[in-house]
Amino acid sequence: MTQTIIPVLPFNVNRVREDFPILAQKVHGKPLVYLDNAATTQKPQAVLDALAEYYTEHNANVHRAVHLLSERATRLHEEARTTVQRFLNAREAREVIWTRGTTEGINLVAQTYGRKNVGAGDEVIISAMEHHSNIVPWQMLCEEKGAILRVIAMNDDGELLLDEYEKLLGPRTKFVSVVHLSNALGTLNPVKRIIERAHEYGVPVLLDGAQAAYHVPLDVQELDCDFYAFSGHKLYGPTGIGVLYGKAELLDAMPPYQGGGDMIRSVTFEKTTYNVLPFKFEAGTPHIAGAIGLAAAINYITALGMDSIADHERDLLAYGTRALESVPGLRLVGTAREKASVLSFVLKDIHPYDLGVILDQQGVAIRTGHHCAQPVMDRFGIAATARASMACYNTREEIDVLVRGIHHAQKLLG
Ligand SMILES: *Cc1c(COP(=O)(O)O)cnc(C)c1O
Repeated sequence: MTQTIIPVLPFNVNRVREDFPILAQKVHGKPLVYLDNAATTQKPQAVLDALAEYYTEHNANVHRAVHLLSERATRLHEEARTTVQRFLNAREAREVIWTRGTTEGINLVAQTYGRKNVGAGDEVIISAMEHHSNIVPWQMLCEEKGAILRVIAMNDDGELLLDEYEKLLGPRTKFVSVVHLSNALGTLNPVKRIIERAHEYGVPVLLDGAQAAYHVPLDVQELDCDFYAFSGHKLYGPTGIGVLYGKAELLDAMPPYQGGGDMIRSVTFEKTTYNVLPFKFEAGTPHIAGAIGLAAAINYITALGMDSIADHERDLLAYGTRALESVPGLRLVGTAREKASVLSFVLKDIHPYDLGVILDQQGVAIRTGHHCAQPVMDRFGIAATARASMACYNTREEIDVLVRGIHHAQKLLG
């Protein structure tokens, strides 16, 4: 058997940085050190070009006309869907639904699958490390239905307690929705096991993949998750576009989410019949340029190699963890064994907000606050953390700048 050998260039972070024009700028007279990637990532030139090219050369509405531009826009929009399908290794392109982002994907499932299948006394399981967008939609559903929200606890390292999870599962469980990779702690959850256990009870599982999608190679068939939601803007793509993957048989059986154009087959004042997948869940004119931009982002990171990116980020995580642990008075929050490149921490006697302001003066962008995960902060008995989160274009030198900035803040405020 002959094997095709695809030449993979060694990962060269300085070469990668050249693809991101925004990184070349100075802020407050200092070179930008962008370490707020868990909030959103920067966009490579390939994505900027795809957006500009779409609006410059192809712009038209999709699915509606026979004219050439509309045909072209429709083709590009559907090719983008196929790109996502391959990226996720979904069985079929119709299992890929365009959304505005992770938040909308989770709300879609709560409001369609959830409202249809969860009733009074039933239970929905989430975890103690969820983003608000994977808490509130389920709370709203449970409130409406008289159902109960159950929460998988975690240990002091920020790891889920799987024994506790198994005790929560039972005949009343109707849905499990957990984060694949925590934005606040960096924990990479054992989602395959979580899914297997839920399936033993016939319970479907949604994964919040907002963070995992740009750090971890994905295969929804291998994971056997029932739904997977992620956002384009965290995956080096545009804002306002995201993806909900769902197994076709589940999506087919679900009622539509929003009503309007494109999601219908026929409409009379007496009765409307709904379109087939994926259009049943895509009411109104979609974010065509966003979908094309997201596909460009996926092509970009696929060409870099998801494994190479993960290796590079693992190195940054190890280097950054060591560097931060050497800072006196600094405590890391989130020390799971399985972790991605997120470093959340608190400093003795310095409020994260004050640190953030001083670091900004040094050109260093980090996030401070509760990271849309207030229950996580409560669990660790703190109000906020400072969070440095790394992406494919970050370097060890940038972590050195961060650490020098922290020392500087300690001198000023300590
Ligand atoms: C960012 C994020 C979300 C929400 O994503 P949106 O793009 O704001 O919809 C949900 N979960 C996690 C883990 C996140 O990091």
